[in-house]
Amino acid sequence: MRARNHKQDKINIITLGCSKNLVDSEVMMSQLKANDLEVSHEAEKDDSNIVIINTCGFIDNAKKESIDTILDYVDRKEQGAIDRVYVTGCLSHRYKEDLEKEIPEVDAWFGTLELPRLLNTLGADYKHELIGERLITTPTHYAYMKISEGCNRPCSFCAIPLMRGNHVSKPIEQLVKEAEHLVKNGTKEIMLIAQDSTYYGLDLYNERKLGQLMDALAGVEGLDWIRLHYAYPSQFPMDALEVMKKHANICKYIDMPLQHITDNMLKAMRRGISKRRTLELIDTIRKEVPGIALRTTMLVGHPGETEEDFEELKAFIREAKFERLGVFTYSHEENTHAGTLVDDVPDEVKEQRAAELMEVQEEVSFELNQEKVGKTYKVLFDRVEGGYFIGRTEFDSPEVDNEVLVSKKDHFVRLGDFANVKISQASAFDLYGDIVN
Ligand code: SF4
Repeated sequence: MRARNHKQDKINIITLGCSKNLVDSEVMMSQLKANDLEVSHEAEKDDSNIVIINTCGFIDNAKKESIDTILDYVDRKEQGAIDRVYVTGCLSHRYKEDLEKEIPEVDAWFGTLELPRLLNTLGADYKHELIGERLITTPTHYAYMKISEGCNRPCSFCAIPLMRGNHVSKPIEQLVKEAEHLVKNGTKEIMLIAQDSTYYGLDLYNERKLGQLMDALAGVEGLDWIRLHYAYPSQFPMDALEVMKKHANICKYIDMPLQHITDNMLKAMRRGISKRRTLELIDTIRKEVPGIALRTTMLVGHPGETEEDFEELKAFIREAKFERLGVFTYSHEENTHAGTLVDDVPDEVKEQRAAELMEVQEEVSFELNQEKVGKTYKVLFDRVEGGYFIGRTEFDSPEVDNEVLVSKKDHFVRLGDFANVKISQASAFDLYGDIVN
């Protein structure tokens, strides 16, 4: 095994799971760098001797991916390719005691809120003066901003509160400082993320302050796009819609996971909202902010979901015409409320329902996209692939939504720049067009 002393240590961070985990890795990187430690994120050139795996423990597939990744790096350690493996994040937080016994080759396990201890283990100190600063791992021009940690909601199927604790909002001033820091480093677009962004402020200010936060962030010079994710439907703060209308740099876009629509399932999932109030909310949002793009997420196969429930959900997706949709299959998680119920929907039925829902959405998305042909949109360009410059409109979030493709043969645009694109053709999930400045 190659012995190395501290000053030569090279740390590689691997992030699994959601954008909130990614922000945690970015904060970890800036702390390590500030302690003069060499750190990279998912480095291609794999010459690091220390690996930190920031895991996900949300549902079965994610847990399996985390375990496989840990075992892969443990193998590399056994072969002497790396010296130390550390594991942090949700899986480690949730199953630390079992994992310590099952995979003793890992040097240490950390919970989701144990960054200071992780840093100490690497001979580094937690630097409070860095709060609000981080090394972003996304393309420079966009970044995720975590506005709070944890969640106070009782959703039946969800293990996140077990891994992330109660809801803790970050102060508005700190988030504005963070946005200014990001803009100074080239960020033009931020995604506001949380477990539940609409709960923002209730713990800290005793009132919902998502609207005030978005208003303050909209005042940050150089921030072109602010995008709202993870809005919870129940008690949605309507003043946020006023703020959205007031500022051109707040995207007319809301990601609002609904999870289901039948009263039977919304009750079983403990979502605290009915079908009637959900329909009213969608209607109000679309009336208040005309042309807004709504993204939602549905969960199929929850215990007790009947064929009738599913047919009602499918009909709802066909009628509601969400601009963007994601579908998950229920995962039976211990220590959740639903974990005490019988997982009575067979896996193949779960998969079948998810596939059917996405088929309906593909038709909806194709139809909605045809209406964009002939229109011109402001597009932010993210990457180049297969002869195309690829970007997004304000109605599309990175990595999850539709993309705009512009041929490299006929056009040139710098990545990270905006350009106006006239749409000439549309498929279910992609738009094709030409730059028209
Ligand atoms: S809002 Fe519900 S689904 Fe979302 S993190 Fe909280 S408990 Fe989980």
